[in-house]
Amino acid sequence: MEKSVGPMRVLVTGGSGLVGRAIERVVKEEGGGREGDEWIFLSSKDANLMSVEATRAVFQKHRPTHVIHLATIVRGLYINMKHNLDFWRINVHINDNVLHTAQEFGVVKVISCLSTCAFPDKTTYPIDETMLHSGPPHESNYGYAYAKRMIDIHNRALYQQYGVKYTAIIPTNMFGPHDNYNIEDSHVMPGLIHKTYLAKKEGKPLEVWGTGRALRQFIYSLDLARLFLWVLREYDEVEPIILSVGEEDELSIKDAVEAVVEAFEFKGKIVYDTSKPDGQFRKTASNAKLRKYRPDFKFTPFRQAIKETCDWFAANYDTARK
Ligand code: NAP
Ligand code: GDP
Repeated sequence: MEKSVGPMRVLVTGGSGLVGRAIERVVKEEGGGREGDEWIFLSSKDANLMSVEATRAVFQKHRPTHVIHLATIVRGLYINMKHNLDFWRINVHINDNVLHTAQEFGVVKVISCLSTCAFPDKTTYPIDETMLHSGPPHESNYGYAYAKRMIDIHNRALYQQYGVKYTAIIPTNMFGPHDNYNIEDSHVMPGLIHKTYLAKKEGKPLEVWGTGRALRQFIYSLDLARLFLWVLREYDEVEPIILSVGEEDELSIKDAVEAVVEAFEFKGKIVYDTSKPDGQFRKTASNAKLRKYRPDFKFTPFRQAIKETCDWFAANYDTARK
């Protein structure tokens, strides 16, 4: 049953990033948009959301009815570890500006994006939505993790004080076209894709960081985008919802390496640099809540999604973000 009626004007913050570009593709190329709806995809060049004035100006200009809030500073494990202060401050400012301004401008619904790395480190598995605040996050990324948790606090307090239903989704690790492929500061999947592409081209070994034993659930950015549209139109809770493949689809980093190696038909040597830390060993999330709402949603098979992403990266090597 469709919950939102009438045309929407949807403002997507962080519209030039991995998830923003995936939503744009689903809206414009897969028929995800609806007649009469208007979509505005912002990058940091349209408005620096660290600034209250710039945030107000962009809301004034577009007068959105709905906001998908993706804008963030997000990096892989090895950068997060060194910049907890920056990740805390920048994200807290951006999130406060967007949520506060949205409420001021009468936005009906805001969907923000948390991350499974905001969950407690010492916990039982699988992790579910009720456990977000039940213990400290992993020490490697506490700045980013606490900034993400505060979005949930902000949403709850907005509902309590003003009755607005702003919510958040919680995705796992992601990958897809238009990701940040910069080897030094990327997440694991874009990092592996770039490194494997170069190792094959240069006839060198592929260097994987850590032992390869850490476990992760990966979601294809296009699947996440399709689910985002469902959340926008039909999900009516303030409580966040985990958007993830099932627990049974959790992989080791070594499994992820094998998928990328297969996609590129890389035949060279693979070296694991075990002097580098593995980060959080696992953060296995339950998608039971999602499955209750969307029992039939079909995730793109992992190997197919990896192949599509590797093909995209090879075809767009010159212009890809790296
Ligand atoms: P991304 O590719 O790094 O894109 C970040 C976006 O934020 C870009 O559009 C960027 O604009 C914008 N941005 C950064 N600083 C800004 C500022 N000061 N003012 C305005 N805009 C700013 O990020 P993503 O991977 O799509 O992430 C989307 C959401 O998913 C984030 O909330 C992230 O925390 C969450 N998430 C990501 C992952 C993952 O594996 N990638 C996993 C879990 C959760 P420019 O293009 O102009 O720089
Ligand atoms: P996390 O899921 O928040 O820890 O962040 P990442 O997406 O950066 O994944 C980190 C995991 O992937 C760790 O277990 C790393 O040891 C492993 N890994 C292996 N190779 C790479 C790489 O090239 N880049 C990154 N970021 N992580 C890698």
